[in-house]
Amino acid sequence: MTHSNSGSSSRAVVPDLPDALPIAVVDNHTHLDIEREGHPVDVADALAKARAVGVDRVVQIGCDLPGARQTVEMIDTYAAMLGGVALHPNEVPGLAESGSLVAAYAEIETLAAHPRVRVVGETGLDYYRTGPEGRDVQHESFRWHIDLAKRLGKALQIHDRDAHDDVLRILEEEGAPNSTVLHCFSGDLQMAQTCAERGYYLSFAGTVTFKNAHGLRDALSVTPLDRLLVETDAPYLTPHPHRGAINAPHLIPLTVRAMAATLGVAVPTLCQALSENSERVYGPW
Ligand SMILES: [Zn+2]
Repeated sequence: MTHSNSGSSSRAVVPDLPDALPIAVVDNHTHLDIEREGHPVDVADALAKARAVGVDRVVQIGCDLPGARQTVEMIDTYAAMLGGVALHPNEVPGLAESGSLVAAYAEIETLAAHPRVRVVGETGLDYYRTGPEGRDVQHESFRWHIDLAKRLGKALQIHDRDAHDDVLRILEEEGAPNSTVLHCFSGDLQMAQTCAERGYYLSFAGTVTFKNAHGLRDALSVTPLDRLLVETDAPYLTPHPHRGAINAPHLIPLTVRAMAATLGVAVPTLCQALSENSERVYGPW
């Protein structure tokens, strides 16, 4: 979601494995390249733990240049992993200021051509961490990434923080790629309906399990099963009851079970839908 280390180090422990899911699902958005609170990720171990609880595949997102390069190395190493590369909206203003944005676009375009990079993302708009002075360049970058996804025939993963209206408007103006995913969906019921009508996918993260997230659960409850995805956004957004700890792909079952309860569907039914949707968006792997 972001690149800043946050939170205290007092809870810098990755929680234990929850009960396994009955049908394997995909962690649709994770950052195994990001070290949080001085805990670098052992990628092979993270994937093994995930597999042990029914998370058999992950989509690794590298959203700055070092992360994107690392993502391509990782997908060449681990068969369970697909990649996504982009310049995060909070990275873009700094790159523009230092005059390196054009070169960064060129490198992202090269990395995105890798056959197992199936995602351009995360791109989008962040009005929370970037002030009004950064908006123009975020808009330009979002439009560039939308165009890249369409040219390369890849899925698009969108980061939208406090920018719902402009995200929806720009997607409409540019024409959304065939597979468009709102990562860590944070809109309300009405936005969920609009996204579903337009055929976008909504990816829910641990935030949907938070006690006060009533609006988000309302949004989930109106999202059709065939538009749903699930993600960790690890190492951030750790689901209840581990909120504040370091997140990892093996914690997805907590989010999936909470989603099933909100939707009023059986856990295997939801797992099956999540798995099928992931393959529809990213293709088989
Ligand atoms: Zn993210």
